[in-house]
Parts: sequence; structure tokens; C-alpha cells
Amino acid sequence: MSLPRGWEMVIGLEVHTELLTKTKLFCGCANDFGAEPNTNVCPICLGLPGSLPVINREAVELAMRIGLALNCRIQDSTFHRKNYFYPDMPKDYQVSQYDVPINTEGYLDLPDGYRVRIERAHMEEDTGKTTHLGTSGRIHGAERSLVDYNRSGVPLVEIVSGPDMRTSAQARAYVAELRAILVTVGASDGRMEEGSMRVDANVSVRKSGEPFGTRCEIKNVNSLRSLVRAIEYEALRQIEVLEDGGTIRQETRHWDEDRGETSTLRSKEQAEDYRYFLEPDLVPLAPSAEWRANVAANLPALPAALRRELSDLVGEVTDAQADTIATVVDLSLHDYVLAAVAAGVPVTLALSRAANEVASQIDQRSQLSTAAFIDTIRRENAGEISATQSKDVLLTVLATGSTPAQIIADKGYVQMASDDLAGIIDGIISANPDDWARFVEGDPKVVQFFIGQVMKATKGQANGKTVTEILNAKRG
Ligand SMILES: [Zn+2]
Repeated sequence: MSLPRGWEMVIGLEVHTELLTKTKLFCGCANDFGAEPNTNVCPICLGLPGSLPVINREAVELAMRIGLALNCRIQDSTFHRKNYFYPDMPKDYQVSQYDVPINTEGYLDLPDGYRVRIERAHMEEDTGKTTHLGTSGRIHGAERSLVDYNRSGVPLVEIVSGPDMRTSAQARAYVAELRAILVTVGASDGRMEEGSMRVDANVSVRKSGEPFGTRCEIKNVNSLRSLVRAIEYEALRQIEVLEDGGTIRQETRHWDEDRGETSTLRSKEQAEDYRYFLEPDLVPLAPSAEWRANVAANLPALPAALRRELSDLVGEVTDAQADTIATVVDLSLHDYVLAAVAAGVPVTLALSRAANEVASQIDQRSQLSTAAFIDTIRRENAGEISATQSKDVLLTVLATGSTPAQIIADKGYVQMASDDLAGIIDGIISANPDDWARFVEGDPKVVQFFIGQVMKATKGQANGKTVTEILNAKRG
């Protein structure tokens, strides 16, 4: 999308990610999405009088991993109380990090090399979840509201970018890359639809070269697609207001997915409205140098490095292959590919099977061991099973957890002996003498016809490569 002449958007993103810890940030309640409402609660996460928080070591470790992956400086930090009327937070304050966050001054490089500054990545606790009953689904016009405190106290890290993005495509690329990083370091499952990763977009517009304009914060963006739509809608709205001689009010706006519009939610609170003060029940957070060094030493390879590694294995990378590599890395399927390559399978075959068959059943991936993946595509590469059979074996392993050998035996996926195949091919040649004559004369288009006929005759059990070899041998 292009903006009217001379206008430019300025975008900063605030991304909240729930951390994949076993327990909540300040108590031992399970951090478990989808449990029966109000079952994972205790006096601490309900804010009952006299309860005292104890910080979760695993959450601190994951926060440091995020900071390191985003090239941040990790520092000793403090927690504050952010006071507010929260219907979904019985304490009426949220414990968050304010002026001294754990991670600061980092950056994230988009795949095209564009650098976005990370101002901070701080820890805080999540609120509970309200559900408003009524046609609007929002608190306005609701008949009644339900509250589930299972989420209250779940650890979050909020990652705040600089106002560095200038297009909705950059914002999209930033969130996609950030999501891949969070998943790779094991901090998050990256599921925007389930709300475990939530994006707020700060959008303003200006004439190129002028100072920043007044920004609005857009909430309720649940997918990459809505992020792009919401940013573009909001930028055009602001330009229209300004070109009509109006001014932009700093406010929080709600994105309505169905109507494709943003609307005023509330005027933006200022930091002083929250009456922040140091959380008196927690000491400053000061991870030892040894702990920090240990986290750094155990940081896994990040998406950018993994994409580079896979690209180097492929060599000359086409656009389609670059997309395949990006899919494999985004879904954390690189382990399969790298292991298969180490076992001698061509990288393009491994990438293709991972980005298609495995990716299509990604929720079932725990059923497919690396060994089973390698076993299947090694057989395909050796010509023991055909490409069609190999794809089916992978999908069946993903669905059932059975072994490739068992599936091949059950389905009778035994590669036809060359002699049997030669006999079938002889029959097809005599039934199609004109096509055979064209093939012998060197018309390359007929080869697909013969392979198709053989596949039909063998119900897909022949190996395409072997068929081509036999055809070429018979041509003499
Ligand atoms: Zn609790």
C-alpha cells in the first residue's frame, strides 16, 4: 500500500509474550493454557492479604534469553507496582518493571538487513481474562462479564521497539522475525491466535523529514494480517484528519477485525497516572555473572543464523527455496533437515519434505522422530520407495506415530523389482508405438507420458527415477 504523496508512517511495536514456564511468575500455580477456569489460583495470584510473592527462576532465565537473542544489555533490575482498576486483576495493581528493566538497548535485524532498535524487554505479570457476554463481545453493551484468574500472574516479557519502522511490511517482518526468535529460544510458543503473543502498534504519520506526529496505540491485533490492515487503516485515518486541518489526539484505539476499522478505546494514560512505586515485597533482581554467562553459552542458534546455514547448504538459492527455508526455520523444523543432510540426504529433498508434509501436520510433530524422518527420505532418495509413497509414509507417521518400516510393510510399499518394471514398460511401449518413436527420436516431452502410464499401471509404486533409467536404456 502507498500513502498519499509526501506522507510517511512511523511505527513502533510493543509485543507481550507469555513465557513457557511450568509455573506462574510469583507463585507455584501451573502456567497452563486452556485449564478449567479459576482452577490454577492461590492466595498469591489472587492478591489475598498477607500473601507474598517469590520470583520464578525459570522466568528470569527465559527473560535473559530473550534479551540476549535481541542483543540487549542485561542489567540488575527492579519491580514496581502499576496501580490501576483492573477488573481482571484482584490486587488492582500489576507487578511490572518500570525505570530499570532487565533488558535494555538491543536491536533486531529484519531478514533484509533493516535494523530495528529494541528499547527494552522487561518482565511483568499477566492479568486474568474477562469474557463479556452479549452481542458486542466487548464490555460496552455486555449483559454480564465472566472472569478467569488462571492467567493472572502468568509471566510475560514485554518487548518495546524503537519507532523505527516506516511501512506495514516492515512491521509484519519484525513480528514474524521476533516470533521465530522467541520460539527458537524456547521462551514462547508464539501463538498469536491464542493470545500467548500479543502485539500493540504505535502508529503516527508525518511529512517526510518532519518531526514525529502524535501517535495512537492500536490494541486487539491477533494476527500478522490484521496487524498490516490495522496499521494501514490507522495511518490513512490520521492523514485524512490532518489534511482536513484537524489534530490527532493521543489515545488507545481498538482494532475491529470484522469492520476493518480502529475506534477510540480510551484516551492514553500517562505513566504518572499509574502511581508507580517500588514493589516492597521483592528485592532487586540481580542475576549473578556466572548465571548470565551460562545463559549466554547455552543460547541456541537464532533464526537468521539457521537460515544462513541452510542457504549455504543449498548453494544457489532461488526465491522459492528462500521461502521454503524461511518456513522450515519459522516452524523450527531445521533439526530434521540438518540431521537428514548429515545422514547423506540431499538438502533440497529434506527441505521440501519438511516444509510441506511435516509443516502441514505441525501440531503432530512430536509423533515424528528425527530418525523416522531420515529413514523415510533416505529410502526415497535411494529409490526404495517413490516420492508419492514417501510423502504418504511421512503423513502416516505424523498421524499415527508408527515407524516407516511398519507403514511400508502394511501398505505394501515395496519397490517393484527392476525386472517386473521392465516387463510392464515393454507392454506400455508396444501399446503406444507412435509415442515410443517420438521418444526414441529424442522428444523430451514424451518421457512424462511414459512415466504417467507406468505409475498408472503400478498404482504409483514405481520409482520415477528408475523408470526413466529403464526407458533410456531401452532407447539404446
Ligand atoms: Zn497462584
